[in-house]
Amino acid sequence: MKATHEPSILLIYTGGTIGMIENPETGALENFDWDQFRQYVPELKRFNYRIDALMFGPPIDSSDMEPKYWVKIARIISEKYDAYDGFVILHGTDTMAFTASALSFMLENVGKPVIITGSQLPIGQLRTDGKENLLTSIEIAAARNAEGQPMVPEVCIFFENRLMRGNRTTKINTEGFNAFRSFNFPSLARAGIHIKYETHLIRRPDPTRPFCPHYLMDNNLLILTIFPGMRREMIDTILQQKGLKAVILKTFGSGNAPQKPWLFDRLRELSDRGVILVNVTQCSTGTVEMSRYETGLQLLQAGAVNGYDSTVESVVTKLMFLLGHNYSKDRIIELMNTDIAGEVTISH
Ligand code: ASP
Repeated sequence: MKATHEPSILLIYTGGTIGMIENPETGALENFDWDQFRQYVPELKRFNYRIDALMFGPPIDSSDMEPKYWVKIARIISEKYDAYDGFVILHGTDTMAFTASALSFMLENVGKPVIITGSQLPIGQLRTDGKENLLTSIEIAAARNAEGQPMVPEVCIFFENRLMRGNRTTKINTEGFNAFRSFNFPSLARAGIHIKYETHLIRRPDPTRPFCPHYLMDNNLLILTIFPGMRREMIDTILQQKGLKAVILKTFGSGNAPQKPWLFDRLRELSDRGVILVNVTQCSTGTVEMSRYETGLQLLQAGAVNGYDSTVESVVTKLMFLLGHNYSKDRIIELMNTDIAGEVTISH
């Protein structure tokens, strides 16, 4: 069925640089409200869309982002799901990739665009990248194909000129406008004179199932970055935490770690106790292959699950999501070995 009404977009402003302005007296960045925001982006009036906005009160720096805020965003989207054609989330860049990944799991079978964007320079500044990012995100959130269906019914990040699958992105630059990359999955669209969509790469919801939001996240996990010279006493202290349910091992290369018997024993013991171990690489591009070297094989033998080519952001949030469901260890391992939201490439 073709949509005939004017597109309606809900902007959800959570915080971050994009919605800040420099206080002329102190020079510090401060948040400003939606009316001020509109003054800085008069172009918003030129869209033939209904654009409403919801501000987080108070807006947060994304370094303060937490699962409870992901739940808040997911609830807003679910409550307003029927009232809008698309959602644009304004967010700080620091943890944007975590939020995008979390929402991609929490908004199961989403059928509408959820585009997350932000900026490196505040929207009130002359050379801001915020305007471009915001205006193009709105256009993408409202775009429909020839059948009248949303072009991008996925959780994505739009930044600079690329639209990327949210759960494939990582922040890679603290100052350049090209702050995000999706190393292991191609961009879903490029914005130049035209916005060119790679329609064959874009996920579509299963029409036989409803949109199904989830709100339970369990954060009893930690990330352990492997490095040369790691000391047993230090590592033991963190791995002995009560309540620990999952450990993400950030390993070398294709999934390797030093061959230390104490490390193997500790990991084996954790795994036998029901703690989920997931092996992801410290490299930005490529996948984990634990049986390639002895140094990786030992992790497989200790019970580690393959994180394949996932980003750390995606593994952290996927585990929180799966642990939040209270699934058995076997079920979690099975789902870690399954692509559930386009987050991982698994070649059997
Ligand atoms: N610290 C800010 C944040 O992530 C940086 C930004 O928005 O780019 O909220």
